[in-house]
Amino acid sequence: MKNLRWYLLLLLAIFIGVAILFFQTPKTEQQLSSNLKKIVTDHTFFLAKNIEELLEQKLTTLKDLPHLLQSRPQLRQDLNQALSLLSTPTFPYVYLVYKDHKGHFRYLLDGSKEDRGDFNQKIDVLPRWNAIFQTKKPLVIEHHKLQTLWITYLYPILSHNKVQGIVAIDFSSHFFKVLYTALEPLKYLSTFIFAIVSFLLLVVIFQIFIYLKTKKESLTDSLTGLYNRTFLRHFLDDKNIEDYYVFMFDIDHFKSINDTYGHKVGDYVLQTVANLLKQNLRGDDIIVRYGGEEFLGFIKKSSPKNAIAIAERIRKAVENYRFKINDHEFTTTLSVGINLHPERFKKSSNALKYADELLYMAKRSGRNKVVYQKESATTSVQTLPTIKIKELIEDGGLFCQFQPIFDIQTQKIIKYEALVRLKDKTTIYYPNQFLPNIQFTTLYTLLTQNVLRIVLDKIKQTNKDISINLSFSDITDNKIYYNVLSTLTQQQELAPKLTIELLETEALDHKELITQRLHELKDLGVHVAIDDFGSGYSNFTIFQELPIDILKIDGNLIKNIPHDHMALSIASAIAQFANSIGVETIAEFVENEAILHTLKKIGIRYAQGFYLSKPTDL
Ligand code: GH3
Ligand code: MG
Ligand code: MG
Repeated sequence: MKNLRWYLLLLLAIFIGVAILFFQTPKTEQQLSSNLKKIVTDHTFFLAKNIEELLEQKLTTLKDLPHLLQSRPQLRQDLNQALSLLSTPTFPYVYLVYKDHKGHFRYLLDGSKEDRGDFNQKIDVLPRWNAIFQTKKPLVIEHHKLQTLWITYLYPILSHNKVQGIVAIDFSSHFFKVLYTALEPLKYLSTFIFAIVSFLLLVVIFQIFIYLKTKKESLTDSLTGLYNRTFLRHFLDDKNIEDYYVFMFDIDHFKSINDTYGHKVGDYVLQTVANLLKQNLRGDDIIVRYGGEEFLGFIKKSSPKNAIAIAERIRKAVENYRFKINDHEFTTTLSVGINLHPERFKKSSNALKYADELLYMAKRSGRNKVVYQKESATTSVQTLPTIKIKELIEDGGLFCQFQPIFDIQTQKIIKYEALVRLKDKTTIYYPNQFLPNIQFTTLYTLLTQNVLRIVLDKIKQTNKDISINLSFSDITDNKIYYNVLSTLTQQQELAPKLTIELLETEALDHKELITQRLHELKDLGVHVAIDDFGSGYSNFTIFQELPIDILKIDGNLIKNIPHDHMALSIASAIAQFANSIGVETIAEFVENEAILHTLKKIGIRYAQGFYLSKPTDL
């Protein structure tokens, strides 16, 4: 498109150049003619002056010329002879006239070779000749229409301040015609070039018009006049969608409109909704017909509040519109999903998918709604969209931090707990921001496998003991389990350094399989811990069912032990129980000295928490 503009400009410049040349040609011609006229008249002036001198010489006076010449026929003949010597093809007529008392012009002398005027013979002249009697100055008369003569030069013979006679010299147009003929081809050439360039310009403008028209047609949807998917592809390639909010609109129960009233009415509804969208958006917003009755909007960023208000305005406009067919009226509604943060997605297609996910939520929550964020009923934490999580994992945004676990007595670090994180350029995301959204998805498996790889690498690198969080379903997941098993079988020295922390939030569905697999791992030297013990689902019988070495007491319980007697009793009972069955205890969430002090008193051996050390890189 940009190139096209340059070509057009270039062509226009050529056109202007040629036009100047074309319109300049007659001017050049005129200038040439006026220059020529000046040369001719200058030349003729001297000729006339010579004739005047000749007369003065022969007649001694110039007063009353007709009378002087009438009385001397021989002199007339001599003078005629002299004048005829001056006449050439360029100056074919050289003669002397006077005006009689009746105002008629009559010959006095004539040097013409043919058709010589007799003395006193009347001569018809142009009325313009009379001007010379007032001006008493030479007069140049130009003939346009005459074929043979171009200029008649009149020179007044003055005596006693009166015009006694006029020397007339005719200048042939032959000379001028020769020059003019030489100019002619140039004139034709410039006309020709002008015509060709004008034609080309017209053709190009026409072609551009056709091109733009077809281009527009190929980028718009014929039913609604909105942009189509071809446009969308170009748009996503060329533009930065970070500058927009992404809106996904879908007409509710549109299929039933088609089914009830027919396809034609369905089309009319689509056109009307498209118009309502256009009317409620601005010129620099982009609307695309994304699917049958699904529209995609890119709305220039202002504020999220404003974006939501726009969506609500559109939703209401559709809701309030009365569709009319014959005498019947009906209404429809629209659901909207808005991705307010497309900049959080690396791939624009994912930003669109997220808007679609939100649209789907609008549908699920009853339609005729605007949804711009995923509800998270339990916490106020902003959770990450699944697609964003996938992008981060694929881009290497997954990493671990390691929280040291201390021996309370010796104050030495005995091992580390690996804690998974995701990060993008600006932010680190914590498990509660992404784990709930991907549980039971393949993404979760992918994440677990990555964490396992990171932890085993870290053990190999640092020779430290590290524990990792797994769920029961990770153990039953063949992919994860066999991956761990084969790695540990191949590198047996790693197994004794690895602890698996099992979270007891799920029901123990495949008890036998899990027990068997945990035994296999333990045979290699892996330790097994039960995590968050003392929280909601804790069940002492689990120690009968699973081969557990370590018990981690739930942090929410530990936090309260210095001031909550009940919490202290439970924690101390759990510690006693663990001691009695030969299981080690670790306390989480040790946030202050008071907690640590209490832990010592009730005989808990190991502890982790911010008071001791925050999770760090290892
Ligand atoms: P929901 O509220 O879940 O969006 O339900 P729905 O019926 O609107 O959605 P669904 O995707 O099930 O149906 C969309 C219908 O739109 C199906 C298809 O036949 C119809 N459709 C798609 N393109 C056109 C079109 O150009 N003209 C007409 N008249 N109908 C179309
Ligand atoms: Mg629909
Ligand atoms: Mg649909």
